[in-house]
Amino acid sequence: MPIDDLPRLGLGTYSDADREQWTDTVETALDVGYRHVDTAQVYENERYVGEGIAASDVDRDDLFLATKTVHIDLPPEPSGVPDAIDGCLDRLGVDYVDLLYVHWPSGLYDAEAVLPAFDDAVDDGRIRNVGLSNFTPELLDEAREVLDAPVAAHQVELHPLLQQDELVEYAQRHDHWLVAYSPLAQGEVVDVPVLREIADKHDATPAQVSLAWLSSKDNVAAIPKASSRDHLRENLAALDLELDDEDVARIEAIDREQRFVDPDHAPWNR
Ligand code: NAP
Repeated sequence: MPIDDLPRLGLGTYSDADREQWTDTVETALDVGYRHVDTAQVYENERYVGEGIAASDVDRDDLFLATKTVHIDLPPEPSGVPDAIDGCLDRLGVDYVDLLYVHWPSGLYDAEAVLPAFDDAVDDGRIRNVGLSNFTPELLDEAREVLDAPVAAHQVELHPLLQQDELVEYAQRHDHWLVAYSPLAQGEVVDVPVLREIADKHDATPAQVSLAWLSSKDNVAAIPKASSRDHLRENLAALDLELDDEDVARIEAIDREQRFVDPDHAPWNR
């Protein structure tokens, strides 16, 4: 699927328990209408995600499939990146992915050593687009210098409690996608009073308000994780929720900056 058609609401698939569930959950998600699935080598579920895709009725060309490699724990050195890319495709059971992200610019990450393997994989068709995740503006600048391929997407934590204005503006200026991870603040959005009030006004839920706010921004997409058919449907239906200017202003006035994913090795902690 072309990058311009990236579905603004995708399925996140990280959970550190019961990885086998993703076969059923991905199949259910595709059944209810999701066409963007996000996984990663470190989630240790690519095999199950791939089985869910294979079990569904959706054609591969109608699906936007994203995964990630290069993380503090893997692979052991930059020369291992080409094999790591092949490993992702093998576990997913596909010939190509629509988007491959550098998962974290930490550990082995060195732009000059890692990114040429991503360009090679674009050239030979194993990956359609290059993405970056958890980068700072300075690291994005460096990656854009080193890469031949355009940066198609940057994936970061983004939700009403962490609004990331600088990275949103960067994505709009350079016209790449900003993909919001933990877009429900790992479930915390349901307890935010402003979001509850806006939800009540629209006969919606706080989760839907958060996702509608994100997906209405230029260049922004979101990948909530959900396990049940009800949550999957509820989140996808957020695309039909239209917030008005007053709602948006109230969300943007939320005075709280809270990261839920903040490891010591994150570039903003160095
Ligand atoms: P999230 O999507 O913000 O929140 C997931 C939590 O919200 C789960 O407990 C889920 O419960 C619950 N939930 C889902 N829909 C709901 C609804 N409609 N109402 C109330 N609760 C709801 O958090 P996340 O899993 O951290 O982030 C999403 C995805 O982003 C991950 O799965 C992963 O793919 C990606 N991610 C990427 C990075 C990175 O470094 N690039 C880091 C973190 C996450 P149920 O499961 O019970 O539905």
